[in-house]
Amino acid sequence: MYNITAIEGSGIGPEIMESNIKVIEATGLSVKWDFVNAGKDVYEKEGVLIPQRVFDSIEKNKIAIKGPIETPIGKGFSSINVFFRKKYDLFSCVRPVKSIPGIKVPFENVDLVIFRENTEDLYAGIERMIDQDTAESIKIITRYKSERIIKESFEYAKKHNKTRVTVAHKANIMKMSDGLFLQCARDISKNYPGIDLQEVIIDNMCMQLVINPSQFQVIVTENLYGDILSDLCAGLVGGLGVVPGGNIGKDIAIFEAVHGSAPDISGKNLANPTALILSGAMMLDYLGEKEKATIVRNAVIKTIGEGKFVTQDLGGTSSTSEMTKAIISNMAAI
Ligand code: NAD
Repeated sequence: MYNITAIEGSGIGPEIMESNIKVIEATGLSVKWDFVNAGKDVYEKEGVLIPQRVFDSIEKNKIAIKGPIETPIGKGFSSINVFFRKKYDLFSCVRPVKSIPGIKVPFENVDLVIFRENTEDLYAGIERMIDQDTAESIKIITRYKSERIIKESFEYAKKHNKTRVTVAHKANIMKMSDGLFLQCARDISKNYPGIDLQEVIIDNMCMQLVINPSQFQVIVTENLYGDILSDLCAGLVGGLGVVPGGNIGKDIAIFEAVHGSAPDISGKNLANPTALILSGAMMLDYLGEKEKATIVRNAVIKTIGEGKFVTQDLGGTSSTSEMTKAIISNMAAI
């Protein structure tokens, strides 16, 4: 029996979390969910953004699945999501971006994984107003944190028989900070003789991605570039509704979709549940439940491929719950 923390989040979070729970339960996984929540909705009810029970649950279970969280402006946290990543040192943000047949996009063979450093860079949160008209934000890049995410990306490449890791950087301008990240990539790559290190400047990286994304296998980059590239890459395969992710540390992992709380469609049963369901599949992999993870992924692919029960963002007319139902019945068929 697994004890898993479920944080439903804000906006579309509760709707897609319900889908995710149903799908995971349909795999037959023996699981006891610990439902907790943080963010805007909790603040409105309880006057606190992250109740202590959220920390207690994550620390006890060591594994969580999370919907998107909206952080109210001016309430003590710049972002609750960033706070969790830093508090639990979830340094490795892993985001697989893969074409799904049936989704009408200009590219067919996108199959890449982004490794985003998740705890430093401009997200270190060191900002101040120097005077009324001048703001300063400090970018922190350390050798230790750069090396460990780059190592993760190479280890993944090795395990999955990939031949190239691409480091995206801006070391031509930020010679010290990005220069250090790039140097770490060069140093680490020496330990992986069968895997090429490709160095691409971040602006060129964006252009290359929208022209020929299938040239990339594994991308490793700093926090802010990784955030931006994740949304860009989501666009290559059908949008934010289909790209999953995991924030993985030494002994705690929190799985969540790349997208946010989508306030424009929240509460309308319109959200695409795929991204969180595929994040759930990543969580199953992490737990060692590979077979169940494969069943979930295949059912998602089958449902989207059939095109009958897909949400509006994918060109369909189905609701979140109808798409979820179709995925579950395809799981049974598989
Ligand atoms: P967003 O990802 O919520 O939405 C961007 C666009 O994508 C919207 O048009 C939305 O409708 C669409 N979209 C997103 N997910 C979708 C889905 N599952 N199905 C169909 N369409 C989907 O980005 P935003 O509007 O910039 O951010 C909204 C809020 O979410 C902000 O408060 C932001 O801070 C928060 N956010 C949270 C996380 C997180 O919890 N990890 C990540 C990003 C943004």
